Amino acid sequence: MNAHAHDHSPDGEFGFLTTKLEWLIQWARRSAIWPAQFGLACCAIEMMSMATSRYDVARFGAEVFRGSPRQSDLMIVAGRLSRKMAPAMRRVYDQMPDPKWVISMGACASVGGVFDNYAIVQGVDQVVPVDVYVPGCPPRPESLIYGLVQLQQKIARSRA
Ligand code: SF4
Repeated sequence: MNAHAHDHSPDGEFGFLTTKLEWLIQWARRSAIWPAQFGLACCAIEMMSMATSRYDVARFGAEVFRGSPRQSDLMIVAGRLSRKMAPAMRRVYDQMPDPKWVISMGACASVGGVFDNYAIVQGVDQVVPVDVYVPGCPPRPESLIYGLVQLQQKIARSRA
């Protein structure tokens, strides 16, 4: 009898299949990211540009901006976050199904930017967990696409 016929150990055929399945799931997830249609300030204009024909984020499978957080798996925090807006943004994040990811776009979202005052959250990681930070004021659409590719690579490295 073949000694490996019932080998379901992590190193056997079963392990090989689950690794393949895991790769397939992560490939599907990173190839069809649906961002929430959600912008806070001037950075959002650059985010919108990303979906236009000039930058064509469809090349990376992330052009389907959704009007409902329940249909989204990516939140791009595009702009400064006021303390008043923070609970609403957290609610949008909470309504997104798992797995979900966050890109902090621009200086304001990441560290408050030039708005070093009590009204602006000094980094959105105080409100939601951030996966990728994109620097700039504002970052160009190419920078945001680069950040998106970094996120795709992060998803590819993660466990399903
Ligand atoms: S980083 Fe610059 S472009 Fe973006 S929201 Fe702040 S001030 Fe506006």
